[in-house]
Amino acid sequence: MARSMSLLGATGSIGASTLDLVRCNRDDWEIEALTANCSAKELAALAREFGAKIAVVGDENCLDELRAELGGSGIEAAGGAQALCDAASRPVDMTVAAIVGCAGLAPTMAAVERGGTIALANKEALVSAGVILKSAVERAGATLLPTDSEHNAIFQCLAGNDIEQVRRIILTASGGPFRTLDADALKSVTREQALKHPNWEMGAKITIDSATMMNKGLEFIEAHHLFPVGLENIEIIVHPQSIVHSMVEYRDRSVLAQLGPSDMRVPIASCLAYPTRMETSLAPLDLAAIGQLTFQEPNEELFPATRICREAIEAGGAAPAILNAANEVAVEAFLRGHIAFTRITAVVEATLARYSAPQPSTLNEVLEIDCEARRCARDTLESATFV
Ligand code: NDP
Repeated sequence: MARSMSLLGATGSIGASTLDLVRCNRDDWEIEALTANCSAKELAALAREFGAKIAVVGDENCLDELRAELGGSGIEAAGGAQALCDAASRPVDMTVAAIVGCAGLAPTMAAVERGGTIALANKEALVSAGVILKSAVERAGATLLPTDSEHNAIFQCLAGNDIEQVRRIILTASGGPFRTLDADALKSVTREQALKHPNWEMGAKITIDSATMMNKGLEFIEAHHLFPVGLENIEIIVHPQSIVHSMVEYRDRSVLAQLGPSDMRVPIASCLAYPTRMETSLAPLDLAAIGQLTFQEPNEELFPATRICREAIEAGGAAPAILNAANEVAVEAFLRGHIAFTRITAVVEATLARYSAPQPSTLNEVLEIDCEARRCARDTLESATFV
């Protein structure tokens, strides 16, 4: 029998990988809701192709275009932040949460509160509201399936084992495109260079996060929420080939690793089929052709983002939400050509120094903190030191 799916962030990179898997297994899935922010034309084409019941744009200004594109299809169209949450609360067997940034938090929470199964790619939601999201998962009896390749690897390595037996979680990081540069060279890297990840094809924001290593820092916080082994037991190691997606070490020093091609369809397929497996059309991993798998310590002097993230989660309170918001503002400023690459983490650190707030206890409090942190990050950007 076909299972129903809603896909939040259908027009993005994770959205495309998910729909590719659905396309190859057409009879297994019925699509309920597809969402985007403002890519109305693209969203409408996907909604028609997959026979979605509803298509939603987050940006209400794009609703007229969406309606026009869906004309005569019988597919419902909606727009705005509340419409995203309403779509996410429709009953389905699987929700794929793949909106980028804190914008995905409220719709993800709506899916969680319905008690559904959520394949969670939207790491920023966990970073900003980890405690709140996790208690909502417990309250509603929802299931979170980690979709980020590292967390999905850890989830697979934990299967059949007790988390109490874990000694260490080892998150692997590609190191990004600038891993081998020195401090001077790093100052002048361009947007185009930063957008070229050596191993993964991803959306712009996460690609820049990978280049600064902020992505690994966000994943450190994400791992802390998903796998409660203690912050001191989560380590990061640079593995430039991106073949070992992460590892779990047990008390007896046995280390389990999950390997696979650098293709998000692998972890997404593992979530869609969970607790079984599904076929994918991907080429098998050819270890002989890869030849060598190498590992090295991260360089936190050149790439301070992992340290900043560790300090933020250790500080607690609203620091992770502030960090995430400041990073979103700084990445956007870099992508628009307003700041140099090395300023991204500087803006985040400066914002954390200027603004703090107590631990939020509701979704609305997180969203207020996010809003204030963005204002503070923009002020930081405009201040003399950052022009
Ligand atoms: P993309 O930028 O490719 O896609 C983002 C999606 O979110 C698009 O559908 C976009 O719509 C939508 N969106 C953006 N802003 C809003 C908003 N304000 N309201 C509603 N929808 C919005 O991102 P990715 O697919 O690369 O990443 C998605 C998430 O998955 C991120 O959290 C990322 O960290 C995580 N992730 C991604 C991986 C990857 O390989 N790409 C790997 C692991 C995790 P529109 O097209 O209209 O802008």
